[in-house]
Amino acid sequence: MRFDSIIGQERPIRFLTQMLKKKNIPHAMLFTGVDGIGKRTTAMALGMALNCTNPVGVSACGECPSCQKVISGAHPDMITIRPEGAFIKIDQVRALSRQLRFAPLEGSWRVVIINDAQAMNLEASNAILKVLEEPPKNTFIVLTASQTTDLLPTIVSRCQQVAFRPIPYEKVAEVLVELQGLDRQTATTLAVSTKGSLGKALSVDGEKWTVWRARLVEQISSFSIRSIQPVFGFVAAIASDKDRLVDALDMIMTWFRDVLMCKVSPERIINKDFMTKIQNASQGRSVNELLEKVEAVHAAQTAISKNSNPRLALEVMMMRVLK
Ligand SMILES: [Zn+2]
Repeated sequence: MRFDSIIGQERPIRFLTQMLKKKNIPHAMLFTGVDGIGKRTTAMALGMALNCTNPVGVSACGECPSCQKVISGAHPDMITIRPEGAFIKIDQVRALSRQLRFAPLEGSWRVVIINDAQAMNLEASNAILKVLEEPPKNTFIVLTASQTTDLLPTIVSRCQQVAFRPIPYEKVAEVLVELQGLDRQTATTLAVSTKGSLGKALSVDGEKWTVWRARLVEQISSFSIRSIQPVFGFVAAIASDKDRLVDALDMIMTWFRDVLMCKVSPERIINKDFMTKIQNASQGRSVNELLEKVEAVHAAQTAISKNSNPRLALEVMMMRVLK
């Protein structure tokens, strides 16, 4: 929970520690960025630091009674709100508003962390807006969201914004090697596949992921337009595995990107452990042909992110990449 233990977010951390040093605490902040890059951890570290009775520099000590309570989730002045099901509901915000009418119980600050604030429905958003318009004394609110456009502009304008960026791949890979004992190559490809989200990379079982990825590459590299039946089976399997659909498409994207890179800039190939397969796939293909394949995968990703039928989008993609 110390600021210097938060990985790959030097800029936001510098900004926040300066803010603590100057004791210039805004009523509300908005942390934006993709999942798993440290927004929540930073919000907790900040809340903990504000109420720590024995801070180390500006970081929380992690040992005083206040810190201990935060760590065990029992601090009465640290309130976390997260979606219940798909949404943050009006009842959750109403309960919060009631709590905020009273002064903090133990700490000097009451800290409210609203995770995935984009999950607030309109009613809940309007209720939070009321709180932000008349911020209670000694209350510090942090909202986390993927991007500002997911929130009401009136909410965004009342928060001090801090943008969190994806963590550099090398950093994520380093942590994976250290904490999960993965080899460097697997760690790097996993870091790239999870797009700099350390949280996501750490949640993956490295061994299972390696097997899954190898199988996917094996299939995608072996298909031919002359034998289309296995392709439909492949598409059906990916389309029905909803939890991994986006990951599978990302993996397919890095594959075709690598095949293209093999022509133009081989040192930038990500899946270096499949070098022979990548070379074979790029042989006899023009850069334009390979660009068209990357474009086909991109089109499928876009269509699926806009809720198109995954199976249909994948079939069209496969026809285009196998041409
Ligand atoms: Zn402490």
